Amino acid sequence: MNLYFEASKTLDSLDARAGSIKGILATLPEKDRKRTSALVIETLKYKAVLTQVINETNLLKDERKKITSMNLALVLVHDVLLAGGIQAGDGPIKQAILRHKTRLNGEFQRIKIKRGVKSNLELAHNGDDRAAQIPRYVRVNTLMWASDHAMDAFISNGYDLTDPFTSRQVSRSIAQDEHIPDLLLFSPQTTFHDDPLYKSGKIILQDKASCFPAVVLSPPSREGTYVIDATAAPGNKTSHLSAIMGNKGKLFAFERDRKRFKTLEMMLSKAGCQNVETLNLDFLTVDPQDEAYCKVTHILLDPSCSGSGIVNRLDHLLETEAENESEKDERLTKLAAFQLVMIKHAMKFPAVERIVYSTCSVHATENEHVVRDALKSEEAESGGFKLEAPENVLPQWKRRGLPEELDNPSDAASLIRCSPSGDATNGFFVSCFVRRDSDTNNAQKRSLDQVELNTVESKPRKKKKKNHHS
Ligand code: SAM
Repeated sequence: MNLYFEASKTLDSLDARAGSIKGILATLPEKDRKRTSALVIETLKYKAVLTQVINETNLLKDERKKITSMNLALVLVHDVLLAGGIQAGDGPIKQAILRHKTRLNGEFQRIKIKRGVKSNLELAHNGDDRAAQIPRYVRVNTLMWASDHAMDAFISNGYDLTDPFTSRQVSRSIAQDEHIPDLLLFSPQTTFHDDPLYKSGKIILQDKASCFPAVVLSPPSREGTYVIDATAAPGNKTSHLSAIMGNKGKLFAFERDRKRFKTLEMMLSKAGCQNVETLNLDFLTVDPQDEAYCKVTHILLDPSCSGSGIVNRLDHLLETEAENESEKDERLTKLAAFQLVMIKHAMKFPAVERIVYSTCSVHATENEHVVRDALKSEEAESGGFKLEAPENVLPQWKRRGLPEELDNPSDAASLIRCSPSGDATNGFFVSCFVRRDSDTNNAQKRSLDQVELNTVESKPRKKKKKNHHS
């Protein structure tokens, strides 16, 4: 019965919105992960019809002593009706469910007739169709090998240089992305989780849009460069930044969540990032005047957001009970307030020249409105921040910000949007703040002033958990 208890506990966590499906399944004990995950996913696909069967047959009411929750009933009834039976030895729970087998079956057949479906498959909810239109994007980890070599390796493994957009059925197609260097496209069905190249860190599975922030921030690849990734886990953008920096200079990666911090460390070590110092800290507690950070010139801010742009096929299975509008507005307003505080904090770093703020949200509340409010803030005013000129923010990308959501509509050209329906990516937003006087001399002067101030005041540094990936 352990399989069913584990699967129903997993469904409880998903109901509590304790994480994404992928994230929660990844925390299952490895030995049973495949089997439990398959049961959870299949149950979610048929959840609507299984719930109806359970309610109509009064199963939970009649067997409340043995079948103690709706989620336990769902996984059990799934296996009785759709998988050929319960995968466990005899016992009171199995007996309880089998007592109702005929009624469960009868109700299931009645629903099929009523809905006019012939096969069980027609009852399944298969997720967001837009996800099937997004190619599988693979970023070549240039800290380990060059894109040309990666391309050669794929071709010698039987991949063809054909466009996965036009030849979506060609399961072995590969192409170079037109906007992001070192990004390869494969057909959407291609999987790499068991591929040795993925396991060794030579390739990183990263959606195209989520590669934009590091490319827009574009820190120089030289010693003496100081960069912050303020909200780093699981670390895709951190490893991208490290690759752009060619493992030179110093990249501070902050992550406040302990568990996610562990994932970040693992991911950076696998990717061979040697110029990163990971810190299990809340970015908002980091003192911008600290001597370690007062030379930071580039900051990447990719904070928690609603995730409304992600069209993950699996997570779409959870969207059965929609929030009402006022709950949604309240949640977005809270997130936007937090996102604004993060940008304002980043603007306090004395030598910072460039701040990239991004979200995987499609809501103006978390995107244009946050940028608009950041531009009006005291921190932007005193630090002299403005939006970067459009020609320096991936100009070849056509979809820009929403002018009607900004005080100054012409600012929209400086902003990037990605749409899951039109761009073959997840929904995404990128903005870039720069100083009006952002030349290197001024930045160096600000950081030198700060160093002098620090030597006079000699502030004690905060105690923190840190780790050098070098
Ligand atoms: N940039 C990451 C990547 O590409 O892999 C994804 C970042 S995720 C959207 C946001 C992360 O920020 C979460 O792991 C969250 O725990 C972390 N976070 C949120 N607020 C934070 C804060 N104040 N300080 C540090 N980390 C924070």
